[in-house]
Amino acid sequence: MWFRRVVIAVGAIIFVEASHAGCGRSAVEADGGNPVFSISPAHSPEDDNGTDGTSADGTATGALFTRTLSILKPDAVAGGHVNAINARFERNGLHVVAQKRLRLTKEQAEKFYEIHRGKPYYESLCEYMSSGDVVVQVLAGVNAVSKNRELMGATNSATARPGTIRRDYGTDSQRNAVHGSDSDKTAEQEIALFFGELELMTGAHPVF
Ligand code: ADP
Ligand code: MG
Repeated sequence: MWFRRVVIAVGAIIFVEASHAGCGRSAVEADGGNPVFSISPAHSPEDDNGTDGTSADGTATGALFTRTLSILKPDAVAGGHVNAINARFERNGLHVVAQKRLRLTKEQAEKFYEIHRGKPYYESLCEYMSSGDVVVQVLAGVNAVSKNRELMGATNSATARPGTIRRDYGTDSQRNAVHGSDSDKTAEQEIALFFGELELMTGAHPVF
């Protein structure tokens, strides 16, 4: 019936227009020129899981996509937990946008943990971090640094909150499964230690 066809056609046009309006993410410059991505509001409330920078009604909250450096430490890698931990990141809105598995030399571990030099655990920490393969990765998502710290849990695996990565996959204060940057500034410095520009998505069209 012609009337029904007209209604369907008009509906389709309105749908296409709405889907194009503001559906993208735009690149903006954060303090210090670090690339981060703001999220525009168009999205379905059903998709909302509280981790993508929009509230349940689809309104932008002003949250920004940022990134952080994560290291899956030798105990987590040797224990075969890489995929389980990555799945946990992805489920919680942290996307693994760059990743590589490598073995740190003692000197590289010392450089990475330079700020801890002089602490009683510094030597054994660097021994441990260079004792087996690690997986270094860049996680991107809304407030990535704090989100990752929340998922990681407290430093000591034995006392970290149940349900955190450290509690589930680590053992004690040292063998605690994961490293996560502690600020946006540190994150960019730590990312630069392991990843070059070409390995990172710094353009205006991130795939996450
Ligand atoms: P976090 O990794 O939670 O940011 P820190 O930056 O204080 O914690 O410490 C860096 C790493 O040093 C920890 O992840 C852990 O592997 C090790 N570490 C920290 N405190 C101790 C400790 N008291 N004994 C042994 N190792 C420690
Ligand atoms: Mg730290």
